[in-house]
Amino acid sequence: MKEMLNAYAEVVGHDVIAHLQQLSRPLQGMKVVHVNSTRVGGGVAEILEKMVPLSNELGIHTSWEVISGGEDFYHCTKAMHNGLQGHRAPIADSLLAAYEETNRENAERLRDQLEDADIVFIHDPQPAPLLGLCPNRRGRWIWRCHIDASHPYRPLWRYLRSHLAGYDASVFSLPAFAQSLPHPEYIIPPSIDPLSDKNIDLADSEIDEVRQRFEIDSQRPMILQVSRFDRFKDPVGVIEAHRLARKFVPCLQLVLAGGTATDDPEGEAVLQEVRQAAGDDPDIKILLLPPDAHRTINALQRAADIVVQKSTREGFGLTVTEGLWKGKAVIGGDSGGIRLQVVDYHTGFLVRTPQGAALRIRYLLYRRDRMAEIGEKSRQFVRENFLLTRHLRDYLALIVGLLHGAEYRIELD
Ligand code: UDP
Repeated sequence: MKEMLNAYAEVVGHDVIAHLQQLSRPLQGMKVVHVNSTRVGGGVAEILEKMVPLSNELGIHTSWEVISGGEDFYHCTKAMHNGLQGHRAPIADSLLAAYEETNRENAERLRDQLEDADIVFIHDPQPAPLLGLCPNRRGRWIWRCHIDASHPYRPLWRYLRSHLAGYDASVFSLPAFAQSLPHPEYIIPPSIDPLSDKNIDLADSEIDEVRQRFEIDSQRPMILQVSRFDRFKDPVGVIEAHRLARKFVPCLQLVLAGGTATDDPEGEAVLQEVRQAAGDDPDIKILLLPPDAHRTINALQRAADIVVQKSTREGFGLTVTEGLWKGKAVIGGDSGGIRLQVVDYHTGFLVRTPQGAALRIRYLLYRRDRMAEIGEKSRQFVRENFLLTRHLRDYLALIVGLLHGAEYRIELD
């Protein structure tokens, strides 16, 4: 077996890799191209960085192209991102003109390759017009939306829809995120990479080092929430839950880890509220971590007894997936994609209030046996549903399905 496949097989199991190989057999030698608008930063780039070489090892000729543009293009696509998430602000015609012009320029460079590809994945709205600019395409084109488009700003959606209608299929992350389009739509949830710094197994010594660095007492229980300082993540509610839970577990420590967020005025304000709510409590640690602190976050998640993500609104909630993968019970807010991941008494508990969270914290810390059982199920649940290999399997199944059209039955050897 090849190098990456081997490495993944060690973590996800040989059966999962065998399944990928089976699905990729009818796709040997096919040309697949992914197009997005950034090589680094953001979830899409993170996924593609591993998914593209993994697909190549499976014998599918997969490439990754990045479109680029000037300032107006990025202003426009940022506004589109916000508008898809519901921000009601029109986008100036001049910015839309830059968006279309940038796509035209990029189409000049990419046209031959895209028209020749068997399958093209266009990620998010940035490169969406490329389809209309490749009139001689021979393959199937899929629009992959990673954004919560459940309540888009309507004039923007009407505009984007004109670029999207011609695709052969589109993919959304959750049913709730989808919009109606005149072609088959598929739901493919996000995933985490078990071999990334954020998720790879760590030696106990590294976890201990991180405990020491942040003065976390290994002899006392610790609960953790990792998230941006955003009101929808309800960090103040977590502090409240910690206070209530301490009536039963007085030695309980709380760690709230988030980014520095100094360029985000809202984030700065929320951080102040969090600091105020924490007061001078030595058992509440507020950690401001740099954006690349992946191993530190990994170690904190492993050091925690319980991972909390008490969001009142959430897209998918990758921090939940990360916590579950580390064998933790997760106490999550009853919202968005957290509902897909947290199953009461199986992978953790869904809660709506600080009181609810405190009761569940008490339950888990008093019932270590149940907590251990839940932790095992949590890891297994992520292994089966939310790893990069499942994500790739879904893409391969989608390709096989598209190539077979409306056939009732597809035989794989
Ligand atoms: N994250 C991080 N540093 C932070 C806060 C979050 O690296 O200070 C990571 C976190 O581990 C997760 C992602 O950023 O991988 C957040 O994704 P999620 O879906 O939980 O929330 P979002 O921030 O996208 O709303």
